[in-house]
Amino acid sequence: MEPINSYNNSFDKNIGLSDFCFLDKIEEIDILSNLSTRFNRDIIYTYIGDQVVSINPFSKKPNLYDEKLLKSYQNMYMYEVSPHIYALAEDTYKKLVLSKENQCVIITGESGAGKTESSKIFLNYLKNISNDKFNKTENIIKLVLESNNILESFGNAKTLRNDNSSRFGKFIEIEFDGKGSPISGKISQFLLEKSRVHSRAIGERSFHIFYQFLTSRELTDRHQIPSDPSYYKYLKDSMCYSVSTVNDTKDFQSLIGSLKLLGWSEEDMNSIWRVLGAILLIGNIEFSNDVEKNNVDAVYVSTPDTLKKVAQLLQCKTDLLEKSLISRSLTLGAGKRQSSIRVLLNQSQARETRDAFAKVLYDRLFSSIIERINVTIANGIDHKCIEMSIGILDIYGFEIFENNSFEQFIINYSNEKLQQLFINLVLRQEQEEYLKEGIEWKTIDNYFDNTPIIDLIEGQPVGLIKLLEEACLIGQSTPELLLQKFNQFFSKNNYFESFESTNNFQIESKSFTLKHYAGDVNYNLEPITYIRCIKSNNEKRANYFDFECVKHQIKYLNIQETIRVRKAGYCHKQHYTRFLNRYKMLSNETWPFWNGTPKEGVMAIVKASQVQNSLMECQFGKKKLFIKSASTLFHFEELRTKIL
Ligand code: ADP
Ligand code: MG
Repeated sequence: MEPINSYNNSFDKNIGLSDFCFLDKIEEIDILSNLSTRFNRDIIYTYIGDQVVSINPFSKKPNLYDEKLLKSYQNMYMYEVSPHIYALAEDTYKKLVLSKENQCVIITGESGAGKTESSKIFLNYLKNISNDKFNKTENIIKLVLESNNILESFGNAKTLRNDNSSRFGKFIEIEFDGKGSPISGKISQFLLEKSRVHSRAIGERSFHIFYQFLTSRELTDRHQIPSDPSYYKYLKDSMCYSVSTVNDTKDFQSLIGSLKLLGWSEEDMNSIWRVLGAILLIGNIEFSNDVEKNNVDAVYVSTPDTLKKVAQLLQCKTDLLEKSLISRSLTLGAGKRQSSIRVLLNQSQARETRDAFAKVLYDRLFSSIIERINVTIANGIDHKCIEMSIGILDIYGFEIFENNSFEQFIINYSNEKLQQLFINLVLRQEQEEYLKEGIEWKTIDNYFDNTPIIDLIEGQPVGLIKLLEEACLIGQSTPELLLQKFNQFFSKNNYFESFESTNNFQIESKSFTLKHYAGDVNYNLEPITYIRCIKSNNEKRANYFDFECVKHQIKYLNIQETIRVRKAGYCHKQHYTRFLNRYKMLSNETWPFWNGTPKEGVMAIVKASQVQNSLMECQFGKKKLFIKSASTLFHFEELRTKIL
């Protein structure tokens, strides 16, 4: 492990450089080589200025997170300590308290890169601040971490890329009082992948909770449902029941512990188990039609016992449940003449309705659990009265599967938006500000700009989303018509390509490919402050650094360009007035009173502080001071602390 106080800006061939900005050359190979040198020494974190790059080792590194190490980050500045998420958490907290402004940490990377683990490491650090600074052992962040446990049971699943993949996005806010003590929390969720309830790729699992729940014979007996996962069609289809790295029995016990801690009673929990049992059994409901007897295509439920059991678990009437599965209501006319009739469904429509029902039930269950968690972690505090907060965004990573559907389209679109935000904040606005402030600067513009693809997706009046929306409103659209429409508008767009193909079963399929920043993705139209996380390999192998796999991620995460801007740029900038207020004691000219302009005052402070090579290190813009390296900022802070 890297020594904790290693602000390692000289090259040590054993442990590499702690900040990519210290590299002399920043070709892809230099970045990869620094990353792999560190990785081979169990050092998984590296800075790019104030960002943390993390590379997933796929093996536990207990020393990296023990309490002693965690405490050594307290009250330190990022550049005094070796790179770690703890350093970023400390820095974010310091900024929150000093500026009294809300802070936000965005965690990006592919699925399985370690985003969710990073968010937990970050929260764990904040929890300790709360313990140590405010002596709160029963603190709110502990409850948020317990809630996370619950959300992982219900919202995570084993995928081909990650044994514990989050199948929803979340934004966790920790709210603080004016003194910096965490007092309440809030969790928002986005885009739960609810289709996983009824279908998924072979070798993947549904949400963990189903398998966890079935490990309890006591509960399955109590609710009189089979405990063997292979009994249920919804679980059987993807042919994967257990995962070597997941212990469902233990995780279920831990879930019950978390639910109890957050105030769920035995009765509350029983309602959850009833809904879960019902969802599983809904998948076993089958339909038949009696064309010969009734001469109609309409269906009836051919598994009455299962239907009855589902109705019993959901505490509803069996005949009403059947009616809602085999028919739908159609409203005719308008105003006083409005009436509704029931239209009978055919077999495939009834199956679709059945799966949609299971999906919606699960979605509502998930939302209601989060709603309830939010009441507990709000801690009786009205969010409107909150003075400041730290938000942590952990959403799905970019997804490229063999079969990509609407869900992947939305997930990848969200990632494009995050990437755009990153490009705007770190690469574009940063440089624009240098120019606006009159700082000498040679523009870096050869980064991967994803604006064209975002325009293609969300363009007005015609973009992919607009056309999809239109197709849904009309209600009569088909994959053929939609593809025709896409071709009509985008056939000349470099980021779009359409496909019509016929598979082995002679079934025609319509699809289109988008050239995303992270790679080309083929979408099927037929119904079927930043922490940058990097995956060391695609096979989830422990301590194995796959050059090609890492190289690809470095490219699309714009790591090279970020280093270039950060390296050549200024790590810190501050309005003259604020800088003057904070550091006026460093110069006899400005202390205790200063009558000149704020800019001249700051110039006097910089001069008195004897910053090495101060002309290179500090640039004076029109309204702000720009500081090149963190060590210079640290120098001002150190002088200030000595005087105070
Ligand atoms: P993501 O949220 O990006 O999809 P996760 O955070 O779920 O990825 O990480 C996937 C798996 O990788 C985890 O279940 C864990 O086994 C491993 N992992 C992630 N981060 C670390 C880490 N810092 N140290 C050790 N293993 C890790
Ligand atoms: Mg995750």
